[in-house]
Amino acid sequence: MPIQKFIVDAMLGRLARWLRILGYDTLYDNSYEDWKIIKISQEQNRIIITRDRGLCNRAKKKNLQCFFVDPDYDLIDILAQMSKKYKIDLHVNIEATRCAECNGILLKTGENKWQCTRCRKEYWKGKHWKSIEEILIKARSKIEDNELSKNRRSESRGGKETSKNSKTSNNAEARAT
Ligand SMILES: [Zn+2]
Repeated sequence: MPIQKFIVDAMLGRLARWLRILGYDTLYDNSYEDWKIIKISQEQNRIIITRDRGLCNRAKKKNLQCFFVDPDYDLIDILAQMSKKYKIDLHVNIEATRCAECNGILLKTGENKWQCTRCRKEYWKGKHWKSIEEILIKARSKIEDNELSKNRRSESRGGKETSKNSKTSNNAEARAT
């Protein structure tokens, strides 16, 4: 069972749903105000996820963990970054999955069928399952790519001109892949 718990700020509902699918206890409500997010994070030991740099700074001053979601990155990048930072497992274990809608715990009701114990929504391993897996495969490969580009950057040390040249070639490589 995953131990990290999260509270997700407004506008990041899609990310909250993903964390629930991955089995992480994740609170999300579009109407949470900053003070409430900080209070819940303190009381329930939850990592705050937000696009609000100010909220992140306030949380960190109170020794709370906060993950800043950079708006320049897409969902797959964010999942890869979070996986690295919080050791989030980017594989779905349906036995541990939580209800994407309400964070409730799922109960197996039949062959490949589950139901949320809170909101009663039903889940099954259907066509959509493939697209979930595809996104997670992409996110997992991003983790490897990030490491590759980091290695490349550290190789290009030297004079100003050389680093400028190698930067251009790095970009070309990135575009080619
Ligand atoms: Zn539910």
